[in-house]
Amino acid sequence: MTSVARDFFDEGELVGVLTTQPLDRVLDYKAPEGGCWLGAFVEVPLGPRKVLGVVWGPGQGDYDRARVRAVIRVLDVAPIAPDMREFLERAATYTLTPMPAMLRLATRAPGLGDAPSMRKVYRLGGTLPDRMTTAREKVLGVLRAYGGLSFTLGELAEMAGVSSSVVKGLVKQGAVCEEDAPRDTPYPRLDPDYGGKTLTAAQEQAAAALRKGISARVYGTTLLKGVTGSGKTEVYLEAVAEALRAGRQALVLLPEIALTEQFLTRIEARFGMKPAEWHSGVTMTERRRCWKMVGQGGCQVVVGARSALFLPFRDLGLIVVDEEHDTSYKQEDGVLYNARDMAVLRASMTGGQVVLASATPSLESWANAEAGKYARLDLTDRFGEAVMPEMAAIDLRLEDLPGGKWVSPTLKSAVDQRIARGEQALLFLNRRGYAPVTICRACGHQIGCDHCDATMVEHRFLKRLMCHQCGETKPMPSVCPNCEAEDRLAPVGPGVERLEEEARALWPEARVVVLSSDLFGSARALKEAIEGIAAGEADIIIGTQLVAKGHNFPKLTLVGVIDSDLGLQGSDLRAAERTFQLLRQVAGRAGRADVPGEALLQTFQPEHPVIRAILGGDEEAFWAAEAAERKAAGVPPYGRMAGIILSSPEAQAVFDLGTEMARNDAPLRRIGAQVFGPAPAPIARIRGRHRVRLLVKADKAAPLQQALAQWVAQFRLKGDLRLAIDIDPQSF
Ligand code: ADP
Ligand code: ZN
Repeated sequence: MTSVARDFFDEGELVGVLTTQPLDRVLDYKAPEGGCWLGAFVEVPLGPRKVLGVVWGPGQGDYDRARVRAVIRVLDVAPIAPDMREFLERAATYTLTPMPAMLRLATRAPGLGDAPSMRKVYRLGGTLPDRMTTAREKVLGVLRAYGGLSFTLGELAEMAGVSSSVVKGLVKQGAVCEEDAPRDTPYPRLDPDYGGKTLTAAQEQAAAALRKGISARVYGTTLLKGVTGSGKTEVYLEAVAEALRAGRQALVLLPEIALTEQFLTRIEARFGMKPAEWHSGVTMTERRRCWKMVGQGGCQVVVGARSALFLPFRDLGLIVVDEEHDTSYKQEDGVLYNARDMAVLRASMTGGQVVLASATPSLESWANAEAGKYARLDLTDRFGEAVMPEMAAIDLRLEDLPGGKWVSPTLKSAVDQRIARGEQALLFLNRRGYAPVTICRACGHQIGCDHCDATMVEHRFLKRLMCHQCGETKPMPSVCPNCEAEDRLAPVGPGVERLEEEARALWPEARVVVLSSDLFGSARALKEAIEGIAAGEADIIIGTQLVAKGHNFPKLTLVGVIDSDLGLQGSDLRAAERTFQLLRQVAGRAGRADVPGEALLQTFQPEHPVIRAILGGDEEAFWAAEAAERKAAGVPPYGRMAGIILSSPEAQAVFDLGTEMARNDAPLRRIGAQVFGPAPAPIARIRGRHRVRLLVKADKAAPLQQALAQWVAQFRLKGDLRLAIDIDPQSF
């Protein structure tokens, strides 16, 4: 029998429906009255319940036809595109995720099946108000500028820079009309030619290469490497413009929600309108609107977090992954995927282009460019007058630094200079809280978390101890929990709060601001702090990695890295890469405007290859050396790896299963793969669950997923045992 691709099913025909319920197959249903399209979102009965599903293909017909139930209704949203279905299938195969879980990722829009609700919108009315004021003039000016468009009260007031009562006043006068409109309205159109900058020759060359890929409507990935401030963003916005001209959609992924606000403003300046936003900080209504409009083509550009990759775009022509090396692109919960890799997969299905932008690319992307799988564009100079900061090490072995203090005399005098000149200095320490360890001076006991294999971190600001694994907090005890000695508990090691204390003592007159995620109750408070710094309302900024990413502080001319050695300990093969990326990124914060910057790295090992590479050594040589090391070890990107994490409240049970799995590894041996472990996972206990890890290493070409699936299928998970497969783990 030949099967013909069908994309419409008449009433009563059998269709296969994939639901979000954890079942291992597509279920047969009868198409409803009026029929349904392939890819349609439907509501179907499952036992006594109604569940969400998607028409995934023709029915299998292996059930008793008389007992097959009918689809309840087709939802009022666009059917899922064929390339999206294929993407979900391929992503499921790659990450070894069951299809229902994959579909759940793609249907995370709230209230998907609800009828559209109404909201009030405002547009230009027919009359003029009897009395004109400046505020009223502003509102009418905005409405005239945008022709026939209508806005919500909030949008209009914000755009005009007036309070909403001004708009209400104009409604009373008939100068502005208020009407009901469905909530899920298309986004305003972006204009590709609205506010483009004149590019430099190097930028133009890069932009032209990207434009070419987009107008060819074929898949391709480009690594856009350029130092901070070189204009990467300007360049990839040209690619976005080209996608708009081609009538295709674009997605820009950012690693940090705190950055989206600044970025939206930038898009507005470039395209005249704000794009859609997609991340956990966006309201339910707005997320639903975004989800629907992306599917119907009423949304051209989405700026979002990694989960935006699973939005049902209709015609996705471009995906930008900004700061592509950022580890937050890896989802470490539920479905384990790396958004950077999924972006490449997605674009290869849609005939789209991917731009991976970074000053310090991941070794994976560097190697793919090296191998010719990705194109590579380099921007080597900062835009305008700005030059790269001078970098130097401060050898802590030669500094006079008493115990419990972290700012060396050399760093202190460099900060003094900046303060005297009215510039800003950043002291970078990637450790939240006051002190990472609290120790009893009488018995040596370290206070640990009751549920995790981690020490409790003292947070003076919160007046509590906190576990950075599970978030559990407890009050600081007054006696040692072990030996009950009084007043003998002491902080060991630095955290940003302790550094703040030291800075306030060293520079009592200076305005010190600490940027650490714990200290801000909301994204808004953080945003305000960042804007304050940008406006020059601080002399010294103390920050964790929160400051490493993308903020633009024009007055910042000195970056002091308190502990450059922090990431270099441990056996993780990625440690060098991560430290290099983080420190280069932080150093790049200094001197973006007309004043040149300086970065000083406090270290006990200035001759370490990573420190030397950061200090302006030959970056390409550093990558090449790293690559050679990975190649010799047969690990990514030159080999394939998977982590198997087993967890259970019982330590013995996880270890026993791990041992049994390591012994029965025939399916893996057949493809020449090796198993290592079981060993305690990088975090051996989280929230009371003991965790062990097995690492599987295979050749680049080996069919790893298939072998893994066969291997794990041999074991039964008894009781509360859980197994998670992590393809391409972050640490190995
Ligand atoms: P990156 O993304 O590489 O850090 P940006 O694109 O943010 O760099 O550029 C750094 C700064 O220089 C921004 O303020 C940007 O607007 C400005 N800039 C870059 N290129 C140009 C240009 N061709 N014309 C005007 N300003 C530019
Ligand atoms: Zn804990």
